[in-house]
Amino acid sequence: MKNIAVIGAGTMGNGIAHTFAQNDFKVQLIDVSQDALDRGLATITKNLDRMVAKEKITESDKQQTLDNITTYTAITEGVEYASLVIEAATENMEIKKKIFNQLDQDCPEDTILATNTSSISITQLAAATSRPEMVIGMHFMNPVPIMKLVEIINGYNTSQEVTDTVVELSKKLGKIPTAVNDYPGFVANRILMPMINEAIETLYNAVAGVQEIDTVMKLGMAHPMGPLQLADFIGLDVCLSILNVLYDGFKNPKYAPCPLLVNMVAAGKMGVKSGEGFYDYSENKKAEKVAGQFIK
Ligand code: NAD
Repeated sequence: MKNIAVIGAGTMGNGIAHTFAQNDFKVQLIDVSQDALDRGLATITKNLDRMVAKEKITESDKQQTLDNITTYTAITEGVEYASLVIEAATENMEIKKKIFNQLDQDCPEDTILATNTSSISITQLAAATSRPEMVIGMHFMNPVPIMKLVEIINGYNTSQEVTDTVVELSKKLGKIPTAVNDYPGFVANRILMPMINEAIETLYNAVAGVQEIDTVMKLGMAHPMGPLQLADFIGLDVCLSILNVLYDGFKNPKYAPCPLLVNMVAAGKMGVKSGEGFYDYSENKKAEKVAGQFIK
C-alpha cells in the first residue's frame, strides 16, 4: 500500500493526510472546496513547522512530507491509484452515501473504502457500494498526528482480511488500532457522549456550576479536561448530533440530549469554534464560565 486518498481536508482530513504523508505514503487529498484544501495544507505546514522547531523532525522531513501530498477538487481525479480511501467529509449521512457510491464507481475494485465517521453506521454506508466487505471504519482521534488510538469499526459485512489489513496499516503509522463492531456510537462515543450529556444535565439541574463539574471530573477522575470543556472542544453541535444518533439508534430515552444542550446549539453557542459554549473563548479570554445564563 503506497497510495492513500483522503476525502475532506477539514480538521480530521488534514490530520490524516499529514500522518500518512509523514510515514512515506503518497497522499491524494481531495475536497470540494479549494479554500478547504488551502487551509488544510496551511495547517499541515504549521504543524510540521512546530515539529521542526521542537527538533522532532528535520526541515527535509518536513519538505518530504509536503511533497507526498497532492490536492484535488474532484473525487474522480484523485482516487484512481488509491489502495485505500479514507473519507473524512462532513458528518452527514446523505453526503457520505453519495461519496461512497461515487468511490465505488471510480476506485479500482480492490481499493478498501474507509470512513472516519464519529457515529454514522458503517453498514449503511457499505450498502451504498457494491463492495460492502471492503468498507470499514477508521475512527482517528483529534489531533490525528498526536493521538494514538484508531477505533477500527467492522461493518456487518466487513471481511476479516480487510480488518487485518487496516489494523496492520494503523500500526505502521505508529497508532494503536482497536477493533470494535458497528453499533450506534461504536465504543468511543457510546461511552463518552452519555458522560458529557450527564455533565450537562448536572449543570441544567443546578447541582453545580461549570467550573465545579469540570474540576470534580479532572481532579477526581484524573481526566485531562472536564467534560464540559471537552464538549466545547468537540463542538456542541457535534455532541448533539452524536447523541441523536445514539437516541435514534437504540430508541432508548437514556440517550436523549439534555434540553440545555439543544438550546445552546439553537442559540449558536457551539463551543470553541463559535467563540462561546460552556466557556467564553472570545478575544482570547481565558476560559470562563458563561453557560449559567442558559439555565432558565
Ligand atoms: P470539517 O467540517 O472540519 O471538514 C469536512 C470537510 O469535508 C470540509 O472541508 C468540506 O469542504 C469537505 N466536504 C464536504 N463534502 C464533501 C464532498 N462531497 N467531497 C469532498 N469533501 C467534502 O469536519 P471534521 O471535523 O474534519 O470531520 C470530518 C469527519 O471526521 C466527520 O465524519 C466527523 O464526524 C469525523 N470526526 C471528527 C472529529 C473531530 O474532532 N472533529 C473526531 C473524530 C471523527
